[in-house]
Amino acid sequence: MEIPYKIYLNEDEIPKQWYNVRADMKNKPAPLLNPGTLQPMTAQELEQVFCADLVKQELDNDTPYFDIPEEIYQFYKMYRPSPLVRAYFLEKALDTPAKIYYKFEGNNTSGSHKLNSAIAQAYYAKKQGLKGVTTETGAGQWGTALSMACAFFDLDCKVYMVKCSYEQKPFRREVMRTYGASVTPSPSNETEVGKKILAEFPGTTGSLGCAISEAVEKAVSSEGYRYVLGSVLAQVVLHQSIIGLETKTALDKYGIKPDIIIGCAGGGSNLGGLIAPFMGEKLRGEADYRVIAVEPASCPSFTRGKYAYDFCDTGMVCPLAKMYTLGSGFIPAANHAGGLRYHGMSSILSQLYDDGLMEAVSVEQTAVFDAAQKFARVEGILPAPESSHAIRAAVDEALKCKETGEEKTIVFGLTGTGYFDMYAYQRFNDGEMTDRIPTDAELAESLSKLPKV
Ligand SMILES: *Cc1c(COP(=O)(O)O)cnc(C)c1O
Repeated sequence: MEIPYKIYLNEDEIPKQWYNVRADMKNKPAPLLNPGTLQPMTAQELEQVFCADLVKQELDNDTPYFDIPEEIYQFYKMYRPSPLVRAYFLEKALDTPAKIYYKFEGNNTSGSHKLNSAIAQAYYAKKQGLKGVTTETGAGQWGTALSMACAFFDLDCKVYMVKCSYEQKPFRREVMRTYGASVTPSPSNETEVGKKILAEFPGTTGSLGCAISEAVEKAVSSEGYRYVLGSVLAQVVLHQSIIGLETKTALDKYGIKPDIIIGCAGGGSNLGGLIAPFMGEKLRGEADYRVIAVEPASCPSFTRGKYAYDFCDTGMVCPLAKMYTLGSGFIPAANHAGGLRYHGMSSILSQLYDDGLMEAVSVEQTAVFDAAQKFARVEGILPAPESSHAIRAAVDEALKCKETGEEKTIVFGLTGTGYFDMYAYQRFNDGEMTDRIPTDAELAESLSKLPKV
């Protein structure tokens, strides 16, 4: 059967349920711990910070499927199903016998997959009767997605944006404001933790971990507000399973079975979502796939981090999560893939990785942009720097097939577009891009400060 360039699904083929991969895991991800008592966080404790329905999803390791509420489903129809593209032109350019597919999540104004979870989180906040939500944003994609979702449900949206992005990406900021969000550069003087960080590090341009602390503080100290997070949490991986479910439906239509599934990993949500139904089959012993997480060499949580309980934020106000981490005080070098600059990783993916069910590689950003440029020139889409990590690894696997003559089928997640990352592309085009890889001593220093659990 001839495979079309784009495998489109019909509107009524958008999945009606999210899939919870934890239900099929023999070794469940470790629970979030209260940093004071070191006991598992109770629903009641979590509800101080998060919406009640989302807490239920967060704590549920057993229910395999969750119905997607009708209002969310209607919103999904505005930009889903997303296309699964056969990268014929890339295959030809690489002269590889491999068959390459990518699931493109950049076809919405926010420009990334983050909208899949933003709309769900905004819906549950509205349902609970809240006035608004607070959050952080690094590169700006999550803040943009959440602003769109909050505008749709008429919720107030308060975004703490990492200061260097706030200054470097003014247009991202303006998209958020256009959708009605208020955007504050972090660290700020609006919160106690922000003031403390500013006093300690006066010239700091901020970090994701620090912006999280500010957003959490703001939420718990403002009536009618809760905090929402764009990655890392189990609920986000659940919402993102729509990526994998659509991918699987599209592949099944043509009887295609992938050999390798690849995704970039920041906090692990797009990869967790893309692989969910495939990993489910693997866990149940029905099929086998190679799964590869790709991370930046400047922030190598999986490949050089430690599997341990750690704080999710710099201010140490959040619960402790067991995950592959570089230490909550680790501030990665100014890599251009802002969405991958997080010290930790989804506890679901961490457990799967620790159980040997998936692999991880780290790549340097000059090699990443080299692949991004090649991809843009042949496939047409200008990819986000984060997504380009997956492109790099997919290209490398396809080139291995060229050597061995194997016709492997490779599927990777193309999480978003790079229109707001032209400063990064400029550095690359001018030959000024550098890679800053942390030394073993730097990582050891950061990891020596892990909480004792
Ligand atoms: C945020 C982001 C990522 C990384 O986040 P995950 O939670 O690991 O998926 C990757 N790609 C894009 C385009 C992003 O915006």
